[in-house]
Amino acid sequence: MVRPDDFLPPAAAGAGKGPRQWILHESNYRQLLACRPTVALLPWGATEAHNLHLPHGTDVIEAVALAEEAAALAVVRGARPIVLPAIPYGNDAQQLDQVATIHLSTTAALAILSDVAASLVRQRIDRLVLVNGHGGNEFKPLVRDVMLATGITIVVIDFWRLVPGLLATTFPDPGDHAGQLETSLLLHLRPEWVAEGAGSGGRAAVLPPGMGQPGMWTPRPWSQVHPDSGCGDPAGATAERGATFLTAAAGAVADLIVAWGALPPGTGPFVPIGG
Ligand SMILES: [Zn+2]
Repeated sequence: MVRPDDFLPPAAAGAGKGPRQWILHESNYRQLLACRPTVALLPWGATEAHNLHLPHGTDVIEAVALAEEAAALAVVRGARPIVLPAIPYGNDAQQLDQVATIHLSTTAALAILSDVAASLVRQRIDRLVLVNGHGGNEFKPLVRDVMLATGITIVVIDFWRLVPGLLATTFPDPGDHAGQLETSLLLHLRPEWVAEGAGSGGRAAVLPPGMGQPGMWTPRPWSQVHPDSGCGDPAGATAERGATFLTAAAGAVADLIVAWGALPPGTGPFVPIGG
């Protein structure tokens, strides 16, 4: 008989020092056989410039931290998630003039997501939470195709859209890329990797009137629009603000994992009204 508490809660795992069974790279085959996960989390980031002061791996660090913290919270509440190894590359087609930025095409992203989903479905894990850390990643059409092809159900999370009320009250100006929000998260998660000398994150180009109206969109030529690669002023970022946001965002994702994981296998996240 497999019980939800076959998963060791974080405190019992040595306060983070021991292997965490809900992290796939730390779990072993015996543990996974004894307590099969029901919901998988796939952190998906990008490898790109983040102003002059944050690491290229910022989006990966954020997505992994959110997935791991949410899963730990969900385990304590009896859920059985598993956090998959992160995908480190994202769509950076407009940033390839920035040194050591790596672009993953939509075709490649679709192939990766398809193979991950097909593998999980064969092991009767039919629920996947895609934890996205990069604004340039657009997953909706990929998710529709992969769900049709594999039978898995996927929920996409753009981490910066979570807990909007708390975001607004915590950050005077969260910024779009490497601004207050991301700098605060890195000050909380990897303070030793946050450098001095950040740029202002200001804009140097805009779409002229008539071409940038509501409902119209074209990708930004990033270096032309954002000379230091940042979009949003990182001034005012603090580790405390980062911790506040991450804790609240992880709680929101944990709610999803717990609620969805409690539904029978083969069940999508929707339930009948009044059901
Ligand atoms: Zn980022």
